[in-house]
Amino acid sequence: MTGNRAIFLALAFGLIEFAAFSVHSAAQVQPAESPARNFDVQKLAEGVYAVIRKDLPGLMVDANNVFIINDDDVIVVDANGAPAITTEVLAALRKLTSKPVRYVINTHYHDDHIRGNQVYRDAFPGVEFIAHAFARDYLPNQGAINRKGFLEGAPQFRDTIKELMGKNKNLGGGDLTPEERASYESDIRLIDLVLGEGAQAQTVLPTITVEDRLTLHRGNRVIEILHLGKGHTAADLVVHLPREKIAVTGDLVVWPVPLVGNPQSHVGAWAATLEKLRALQPGLIVPGHGPVMRDDSYLRQLAELFTSIKQQTAAAAARGETLEQARKSINLDEFRERFAGESSVRRVSFGMYVAGPAVAAAYAEASAKQ
Ligand SMILES: [Zn+2]
Repeated sequence: MTGNRAIFLALAFGLIEFAAFSVHSAAQVQPAESPARNFDVQKLAEGVYAVIRKDLPGLMVDANNVFIINDDDVIVVDANGAPAITTEVLAALRKLTSKPVRYVINTHYHDDHIRGNQVYRDAFPGVEFIAHAFARDYLPNQGAINRKGFLEGAPQFRDTIKELMGKNKNLGGGDLTPEERASYESDIRLIDLVLGEGAQAQTVLPTITVEDRLTLHRGNRVIEILHLGKGHTAADLVVHLPREKIAVTGDLVVWPVPLVGNPQSHVGAWAATLEKLRALQPGLIVPGHGPVMRDDSYLRQLAELFTSIKQQTAAAAARGETLEQARKSINLDEFRERFAGESSVRRVSFGMYVAGPAVAAAYAEASAKQ
């Protein structure tokens, strides 16, 4: 491992939820006029719109959002990684309706889904923030530690990739490809957006917490807020519109490579949670990061991955292997191919966010059971 590679891994793991991959290939995407405005608004059903980020695959991501416009008010699913981004998202909502935002639902506690909360709090007196009860406990404690770690680590990470780009090198020490260069540039734009307000960003805690489910009724619309089980975190919520057959999944579903944290994620439970999501039979799925999905094929692919990791890791632990031995005996080649293909950016992501932490998290779970 080269020095650069070591820096990369150390910093990127510190980035936690700011690291993952997005949707478009370099060829498709032009930088938006404003990095904060780098999203498309897509109509999903009458009064229901998805805000889909267009950032390139890379180490930094920002959350998708959903607007649910009701007879008298609006429900927003997820905020963003910086108030500047949420200000643009709110401006997009304003083009659709002048109704007030009454509820913001945070699908989990990660900063790229909650840091924009303060924009809604400031714009809409009385707005309520809904999240899982565990998120309310997590945010002022480990959440604050994670945020501090990001704010301290991100400038160095940004400088490192800028320096490498100047030398035409990638983080692994090889020659920089056009895909990698575009990805690094996208990362820098998002890092700068977050750091621009780093010190001032406030944590807005949930005012309503959910353990299992909460149902909102707005005219004819039914909005189910469901904790289907653990997966990406212990605080994952899904927003389900049964009449419109839409599911908003947060980071239980992230495309093109899932985002796994150790110890935050629950690899052993994740597949079962995804099966409950599939059982809702949504016709449209809005992932935490990535494009709107119109069938459950990617959910099945994710469930197969987590089932395989769980089974292979349990078998390795049962054979008495150490984690390091298990890493060698567990074979994820098929899944690396399916998720990352030939993309060097995605293959790095698969290593960092699946092979690395998912195996470690599953090994810890398997060892605890023995
Ligand atoms: Zn997340």
